[in-house]
Amino acid sequence: MTSMTTTFDVVNPATEEVVETVELTSAERTDDAVARARTAYDTWRHVSPGDRGRLLRRFADAVDADLENLARIEVRNAGHTIGNARWEAGNVRDVLTYYAAAPERLFGRQIPVPGGIDVTFKEPLGVVGVIVPWNFPMPIAGWGFAPALAAGNTVVLKPAEVTPLTALRLAELALEAGLPENVLQVLPGKGTVVGARFVENPGVNKVVFTGSTDVGKAVMAGCAAQVKPVTLELGGKSANVVFADADLERAAATAPYAVFDNAGQDCCARSRILVQRSVFDEFLALLEPAVRGVKVQDPGTDDAEMGPLITAAHREKVASFVPDDAPVAMQGSAPDGKGFWFPPTVLAPVDPGDRAATEEIFGPVVAVIPFEDEADAVRIANDSPYGLSGSIWTENLGRALRVSRAIDTGNISVNSHSSVRYWTPFGGFKQSGLGRELGPDALDAFTELKNVFIATEESS
Ligand code: NAD
Repeated sequence: MTSMTTTFDVVNPATEEVVETVELTSAERTDDAVARARTAYDTWRHVSPGDRGRLLRRFADAVDADLENLARIEVRNAGHTIGNARWEAGNVRDVLTYYAAAPERLFGRQIPVPGGIDVTFKEPLGVVGVIVPWNFPMPIAGWGFAPALAAGNTVVLKPAEVTPLTALRLAELALEAGLPENVLQVLPGKGTVVGARFVENPGVNKVVFTGSTDVGKAVMAGCAAQVKPVTLELGGKSANVVFADADLERAAATAPYAVFDNAGQDCCARSRILVQRSVFDEFLALLEPAVRGVKVQDPGTDDAEMGPLITAAHREKVASFVPDDAPVAMQGSAPDGKGFWFPPTVLAPVDPGDRAATEEIFGPVVAVIPFEDEADAVRIANDSPYGLSGSIWTENLGRALRVSRAIDTGNISVNSHSSVRYWTPFGGFKQSGLGRELGPDALDAFTELKNVFIATEESS
């Protein structure tokens, strides 16, 4: 029965205690919400650009004022470290502020034509459905709703079943900030119910999906039936390529954080470390203290660097990549007792064809793989259906640029592990995704280009 209401117990992954019980949205209620979003769209799209921008700035201010509360909710709901969770809430604020400047700057073009004037308009799409995974509930929600709202769309958003709490709070803050009712609705629920309705309901004009590649493919296929535009941010198996001429100490000291941050539950995790064979042993020796030094503890403590995994089932999946005969080169520590803990684990040397080197683990397990030379490094890095992120460590500028261009990936950093800045584009090559979020171009993903010709010739 589609109208049946069920509930979901949200669990703290660090303690296994139930934090809150949330009502799951039925398919019928999802359709009702889409209908309300459609009505709200008729007014929201006509709110003057200045007022739309002002409302989004107020929303950003409300998020900022609630930052510590949002962060604490995320620590409880997702097991994120408090440091990360504060950054994540701040990211929502910053993304809102950035796109709050967009409504007055949503320029079209004037194109020279004979006999009249030709202008283009960036029209909003209508109702945008945003589907969010559990690994970064706040930022990924904001990357969808902020540019969508700025461009004049209304939004229905489905958080992941296990991590709905910060999204629900953000929807409250939007209302407190003065956004009209139904401009941003958060619908907790199952992917196969709420998410599927975003795909199937013709009242939703676009789907923004972040999650696993398999579900992303199904979402894309479903959207194809209505030629519904879709943005996909999917999985990754990114390479951290360390050349012999790199600052090895810095490369080794930072490598654990590039994969173990958020307990490895990061689509940008550099979960393959490719190390030039001539420095392989030296690099592993430098890596060991860095791995053992990662502070895996109660995520609510200020100096925690890694928390638990999201669920018991996910921990089981991660553990399957470390069977008894796995080549464990080193392991960090993790608390005993309650909570879905898994220690930072380094597998080395790993054959590039091994499951640990080809599949997305989405946990604190990294495969270290030796390579011979630049061509070999590029070949191994590209030998993946994914292409989301990556890093290159070298002191040779020419090599840095050559390899940056040669690796098939959407985001790459040299002598750094940064992937995400809200004002630069983010997205994947190959099966890591379709389209780009963030940065100046994201608005194009939330608008349709309309061409208007106005004749200026006097009619005879
Ligand atoms: P998932 O694919 O299981 O779920 C993602 C979202 O889709 C959830 O809200 C889920 O309820 C919903 N969903 C599930 N089935 C659906 C269906 N049939 N129709 C519509 N929606 C459906 O992924 P997850 O386990 O929550 O997240 C982990 C994955 O997300 C990893 O693969 C990770 O790499 C990826 N990810 C990618 C990015 C990126 O930006 N590229 C960012 C974060 C996470």
